[in-house]
Amino acid sequence: MRNWKALALHYGTAERPRADLALEPADQHDTAGRIDYFVWVVRHAGRVFLIDTGFQPEEGTARGRTMLINPVEALRSVGVEPGEVTDVVLTHLHYDHAGNLTAFPNATFHLQDAEMAYGTGRCMCHPRMRRPFAAEAVVDAVRLVFDGRVEFHAGDATLALGLSLHLVGGHSKGLQVVRFDDGESVTVFASDALHFASYMEDGDVFPLFADYAEVQEGYKTLKRLAGHEGRIIPGHDPSVLRDFRTLGDDLPYAFLVR
Ligand SMILES: [Zn+2]
Ligand SMILES: [Zn+2]
Repeated sequence: MRNWKALALHYGTAERPRADLALEPADQHDTAGRIDYFVWVVRHAGRVFLIDTGFQPEEGTARGRTMLINPVEALRSVGVEPGEVTDVVLTHLHYDHAGNLTAFPNATFHLQDAEMAYGTGRCMCHPRMRRPFAAEAVVDAVRLVFDGRVEFHAGDATLALGLSLHLVGGHSKGLQVVRFDDGESVTVFASDALHFASYMEDGDVFPLFADYAEVQEGYKTLKRLAGHEGRIIPGHDPSVLRDFRTLGDDLPYAFLVR
């Protein structure tokens, strides 16, 4: 088994109109941009934490996204069988973060109260707000509740010594991020609290949110969680492919975070 504590698994990609990727694009002539899709996995304290589960193949195709490798297969290829995943952290219920939920038979799923209320409540009556949700993924999440497999959180929570969840909201009402401190360094998995690293500097936001001010406040939360030395991993940024090395030439989609 190869030596790693935390990986970013790059399972999908897409070219999108710039207007879909930034609220206030810096370069108005730049008409298209790239967005990448990841799930993240952390081995810690004798447990396997999968952070998000990626989009389902059909859902990605229907939305014009390219699946490079099925996230469940990507996980297998780095030595983690789906049945070995003890904990799935759902940062939020958007289609690209909460598909494939039925693939993890032994996991406890961690979700914020506010996210389930948002994804199943009156806000979903509005087409613009429900657009990033896939009904099938939400229904799968509800089924997990009835199977007794969801652990709900209301705000911050510690799942293991060194691994904690933090409610940010903003992009989606119950969006949470993950802080991992392995004793040597701190990593913050921002998911959609920070789509692209540059947003943090230029103050831009992904043009899809439940609460704009909370998105902006979320950047401060990420900085606070990371501290001076910590590293923030953006949720959809192609820079991850440059900033981290792969686990091996045979695993070009597995990036070594820790
Ligand atoms: Zn999202
Ligand atoms: Zn996303």
